[in-house]
Amino acid sequence: MKAITVTGLSAAPGAGGGEPRLELGEADKPQRRTGAEVLVRVLCVGLDGTDREIISEKYGVPPEGDTTLIIGHESLGVVEEADPATGLKPGDAVCALVRRPCTVPACVACRNGQQDFCESGAYVERGIKGAHGFLSEYYVEEARYLVRVPAEALPYGVMTEPQSIVEKVWSEVQRVQQRLVWQPKTAVVLGSGPLGLLAALTCRCLGLETIVWSKAPADSAGAQLVRECGGVYKEAEDAPAAAAGAEAGAAVSPLSAFLAAQGKRADLIFECTGFSPLAFDAMEALAPNGVLALLGVTPGSRSIRISADLLNRELVLENKLILGSVNASRRDFETGLYRLQQMEERFPGVLGKLVTERLRMEDVPQLDFAKLGIKAVVDVVPQEQWVQLVRAEGAGAEAEIAYSFTV
Ligand SMILES: [Zn+2]
Repeated sequence: MKAITVTGLSAAPGAGGGEPRLELGEADKPQRRTGAEVLVRVLCVGLDGTDREIISEKYGVPPEGDTTLIIGHESLGVVEEADPATGLKPGDAVCALVRRPCTVPACVACRNGQQDFCESGAYVERGIKGAHGFLSEYYVEEARYLVRVPAEALPYGVMTEPQSIVEKVWSEVQRVQQRLVWQPKTAVVLGSGPLGLLAALTCRCLGLETIVWSKAPADSAGAQLVRECGGVYKEAEDAPAAAAGAEAGAAVSPLSAFLAAQGKRADLIFECTGFSPLAFDAMEALAPNGVLALLGVTPGSRSIRISADLLNRELVLENKLILGSVNASRRDFETGLYRLQQMEERFPGVLGKLVTERLRMEDVPQLDFAKLGIKAVVDVVPQEQWVQLVRAEGAGAEAEIAYSFTV
């Protein structure tokens, strides 16, 4: 079968000379080994910043004993072979969870099915760390790591994985904020990449006034999308106070100044840029009792000066909360699917606008990630053929799909 692999990730002989490179090649078609495993034909795979960093930062880790890694962790596929006991049937559309638990006996998170909170760090992530991803014609996965996608969600089902990241945060925020009576009004999203835009759309669906603060120009596709959904877009022009190495306590960050000028309190901030100085500006900009969720992974080793006394004082005196969040659980995937449907109902066509490039597998080796728009999706099967492969719902006495979330 065809697969997109990244070579040159390790210094092992034959690994490709030490510079990561994407290649379209042949790989063995995977086989089911147990009745719990399901063979999935891949329809499409989304690319994101992690895929870029696998190339630019050598972030990826091939499976043990291998020198190359099949990339791709945002998947949409269709079941080709499954035992009835799995609850899945050929023709079911599915997307796959990314992380698999570690095997460390003392990891209480993984031992309790919460591998998105793995403590040992020895987890495996498909397409990222220690296991092949989904950018190939087929993959095999245990049914418990597959989430069924309703046929009507097929056009945007590939966005379930990135949306699950947002849902995990919202789920955590709701639980943590039970510490008080909390009536959030304004959300601020830092960054207008796919994750930032999905966070902004989620906030709009939640009825929050939404401000997106990003370096992208005010006439960019992302900025237009924010405005179309009733959000406010602000192009960030100035360097963050924290990045400028401001004297402790002396400067107000451009973010705080902007919010103050608008008369807004940031009850909830999603940091989706991975530009670490902005995280400290966000701590300052956060409203009393607010939550700052950090989602952006920073590959570098930057160090900066911060107004430590000021930040510490405000965090304490204003009950501010900072929360780091990565990966997502099955429930977050299922809530994500619900939310994507909600977005499409409220803002018809919005999710289609998030996908700015549709590529073929042949296009991937030459891909320049820097030139991509909002979100690139690789169609492994051309979209017009999906309908022949996916089983229509309601065929026979079909029950509705049961999901594990409550809204
Ligand atoms: Zn673990």
